Amino acid sequence: MALMQRKLWKQASLEEIKDFIIEEYKKQSENPCPVDKMRVFTDSTRRTSCGECVICREGILQLNLVAEAISQGKGRDGDIEVLTEISEDLIIGSCCSYGKEVGKITKEIIEEGIEEFEKHIKRKRCDALVCKKFFSYYVAPEKCNGCNKCKEECPQKAIGGDKDLIHIIDSSVCDRCGKCTIICKKAAIQKAGTVVPKLPQEPVPVGTFKAEPQNGGGLMAGRRRRRS
Ligand code: SF4
Ligand code: SF4
Ligand code: SF4
Repeated sequence: MALMQRKLWKQASLEEIKDFIIEEYKKQSENPCPVDKMRVFTDSTRRTSCGECVICREGILQLNLVAEAISQGKGRDGDIEVLTEISEDLIIGSCCSYGKEVGKITKEIIEEGIEEFEKHIKRKRCDALVCKKFFSYYVAPEKCNGCNKCKEECPQKAIGGDKDLIHIIDSSVCDRCGKCTIICKKAAIQKAGTVVPKLPQEPVPVGTFKAEPQNGGGLMAGRRRRRS
């Protein structure tokens, strides 16, 4: 939104500002990842700040950039402190209640989700499997019926397979757009975090793949076993 067209929040009542900010925040109420919540909330509120004072204009932008970096696996030590400081600066230094209310909510997101922020930064993990950098999609072999719809739908051509074959997804090509998960009526396309189940290396006829758990398949695939 161009600056000239933006609402001048200084002229609005506190109730009007609060209602607006809370509505924006509520859009994220179902989002289980606090980092992504911060990223999306600051992206929308930075666009509707009137931009008149630096702390609100730049502060919300910086919150958004730091949250975006964390969600991309580029989080650094000290990022949580930076996010907290900026939130407090917004509360104290904003010219009107808009920046102050945004700061209160971002501070709350950090405080409530601090463990998840730390996991994203230090362990490069998103337990809710929301941040695209931290999960991959795979086709659950036992659910796939080889209908080929996901392959036709995929804009990245990341899916291999053909009619009546168990399809496979190339994670290095997939951009996690999620379109295949919507088209698949068998709910065969699922998310995996750090542990990916054993999967076929290439498309094989539907019904022929066995996970072979005794050979390291299933959820333990790829993990080194402890010896007694
Ligand atoms: S805090 Fe400043 S920049 Fe933000 S909406 Fe109010 S007047 Fe505009
Ligand atoms: S993953 Fe789903 S959409 Fe793709 S071939 Fe298998 S059943 Fe069909
Ligand atoms: S998430 Fe998107 S890019 Fe990845 S396999 Fe599915 S449709 Fe293709």
